[in-house]
Amino acid sequence: MKTCTQIYEMKDIVKNLKRQGMRIGLVPTMGYFHEGHLSLVRECIEMADRTVVSVFVNPAQFGPNEDFKQYPRDLERDSEILEKKGVDYLFVPDAEQIYPQGFKTYVEVKGLQDKLCGRSRIGHFRGVCTVVLKLFNILNPDLAFFGQKDQQQAIILKKMAQDLDLDVKIEVLPIVREEDGLALSSRNVYLSTEQRKAALSLSRSLREVQQMVDKGERDTILLKKKIQDIINSESLVRIDYIQIVDMENLDPLPRIEKRALIAIAVYFGKVRLIDNVIVYVKE
Ligand code: AMP
Repeated sequence: MKTCTQIYEMKDIVKNLKRQGMRIGLVPTMGYFHEGHLSLVRECIEMADRTVVSVFVNPAQFGPNEDFKQYPRDLERDSEILEKKGVDYLFVPDAEQIYPQGFKTYVEVKGLQDKLCGRSRIGHFRGVCTVVLKLFNILNPDLAFFGQKDQQQAIILKKMAQDLDLDVKIEVLPIVREEDGLALSSRNVYLSTEQRKAALSLSRSLREVQQMVDKGERDTILLKKKIQDIINSESLVRIDYIQIVDMENLDPLPRIEKRALIAIAVYFGKVRLIDNVIVYVKE
């Protein structure tokens, strides 16, 4: 595996690979790998000729009171893991390269960026879209891999790719969970034992409403109430949002007709966790 820290170096490599007709796959990450990241890496290696993984903790997607400084980092461990998996290139630019002095251009996906997580994380998706578009421009990938764990992000990035005529195919892979249901997240390391136990209410509540939908419940007020009751039965939790929305425009749905995204965000102390499920109604 070759590690690159320089944009110009990475661009040269990509140009060469393209000249040889290679299909490039990109897995953008903020590092501190867990099995969720690695599921994307495995799929990328499977589908592309060459796999690039980027590790960049993107300051532009963190708000002033968020955990940019505390975000967990361990590049040495990450690099060893990728090497073993058979990744071809690790791209680790620093913030001065991605956002040099005088940087002024940002990408916004209006209408989608302010919903769900965007309501409490002002500017988050603007930061995500800007860095992902930069990565796409530097690495020119044919395929890019993202997790359903951040389903709103995936929906927004697909819209960006469509609106800006990008030639990249965005693949979204399922949420990887611990055996007890907790969705893997780099932020899970910050949970205390009690908080981790309480955090199981996220996946538990989503499983419950999935079953309610399977049994015929369509009323989203009732479904949201069920989630709320399960999560609020834990102490020391603060619900950021519980939403049942249309998969394209992220608008709240009064009833589930065909399919819906059920997305939740909850604070356990200072740790904010998200989880979701996509439900389908069989006709
Ligand atoms: P991050 O490093 O948290 O920015 O995540 C990098 C990529 O991994 C994103 O596309 C995430 O959606 C994806 N990801 C994070 N957690 C999981 C998970 N538990 N299962 C599947 N994909 C995940």
